[in-house]
Amino acid sequence: MANSWRRERWDSLRLLTPSWQSRLPGLRYEGPEPDGYMTVGEVTEFIERFAKVSGAPVRTGVNVTSVRQADGGYRLATSQGELHARTVVIASGACNEPSVPAFSPAVPASVEQLTPFGYHDPAQLPGGGVLVVGASATGVQLAAEIQRSGRPVTLSVGEHVRLPRTYRGHDVLWWMETSGVWNQRYDEVEDLTRARRLPSPQLAGTAGRTTLDLSALASMGVGLVGRWAAVREGRALFSGGLRNVCSLADLKMERLLDAFDEWGRTGGHDAEAGPPERFAPTRVPEPARLQLDLRSGEIRTIVWATGFRPDYGWLDVPVVDAKGQLRHEGGVVDSPGLYALGLPVLRRRKSTFICGIEDDARAVTGHLARFLAAGS
Ligand SMILES: Cc1cc2nc3c(=O)[nH]c(=O)nc-3n(C[C@H](O)[C@H](O)[C@H](O)COP(=O)(O)OP(=O)(O)OC[C@H]3O[C@@H](n4cnc5c(N)ncnc54)[C@H](O)[C@@H]3O)c2cc1C
Repeated sequence: MANSWRRERWDSLRLLTPSWQSRLPGLRYEGPEPDGYMTVGEVTEFIERFAKVSGAPVRTGVNVTSVRQADGGYRLATSQGELHARTVVIASGACNEPSVPAFSPAVPASVEQLTPFGYHDPAQLPGGGVLVVGASATGVQLAAEIQRSGRPVTLSVGEHVRLPRTYRGHDVLWWMETSGVWNQRYDEVEDLTRARRLPSPQLAGTAGRTTLDLSALASMGVGLVGRWAAVREGRALFSGGLRNVCSLADLKMERLLDAFDEWGRTGGHDAEAGPPERFAPTRVPEPARLQLDLRSGEIRTIVWATGFRPDYGWLDVPVVDAKGQLRHEGGVVDSPGLYALGLPVLRRRKSTFICGIEDDARAVTGHLARFLAAGS
């Protein structure tokens, strides 16, 4: 239980969602710091507590090795024998494996490579320079922590989502939730494929509620380079589009803040918040480096913070597309009696966050119950 939080997170990680936002059906955070951010240990305890409160018959330590259609339902092979079920809910997570670019084998062997699953804390890294690849939640958090450890960090930045930690006196995720942005339904989103691929926001849960955007990292001495495009003769080649991706992220953040302000004005919420704020454009180095010789010794370690992907190697039902994603409509998978939960924008923008599961689960289990009733 809480396996991913026990085994697949680094030591210093805290949720980027504030504790008041951590809620599961029938369980809310009731600790002393609702505006703080839970540690990995606290998240694990929270999930364990939920298992007790819900009274669900949980069986832990069971690995499902195959699910196939059989006898009007599904036959499951597991590490503890076979099961038959008329319906199956796939809640195996969106982040089972780190995803790493195809060119990673071309990195010279003298450079150590790590993913967030193998990373625990900076002390495990050799001294010397570290190239962190990817500037979403994982990348910015690891870049900050490693730079603070005295290892000079270069951060390779592709498309990203910039957000301030707080806006007009509230956590930015308070705005996301109360303004309804996070509640937007999947069938109201203009470009659903794109929304489902959106990287995680540049946010970290710190005691001082500090913003961890690229300008903050640059102030700490982190070097910013563009998206890593290729390795040629031992050199990392970066895109020249750093300024553009930063301008785009600045623009999108401005639009989102405009939407919050508009909601505040029209909905009569201005009294609950401070005055509107605007933030300086991202400070982009001029010129940004376009290549880095990986044989020179400047970089001793690469940390791939290039995202995660699900693993459906055990699913023997033809419902996974060429990109490795499950085909589903709001969690109703393209095979009768098969359902999914916990995937990006499954039914709402908040679907992959802890606070998003309740509404999604209600809708999906409602469909499941009707399916069972119709067949009985
Ligand atoms: C680095 C990181 C930081 C995050 N930070 C936040 C945050 O701040 N706030 C927030 O709300 N959310 C955060 N999330 C998202 C978070 O993962 C989800 O909110 C939550 O963990 C999703 O729960 P889940 O049960 O859907 O998936 P998971 O937590 O991934 O759980 C899936 C479970 O299924 C198991 N499983 C997979 N395949 C099989 C199989 N074949 N047989 C048996 N079991 C299997 C896995 O072992 C795992 O235990 C973060 C995610 C990551 C990766």
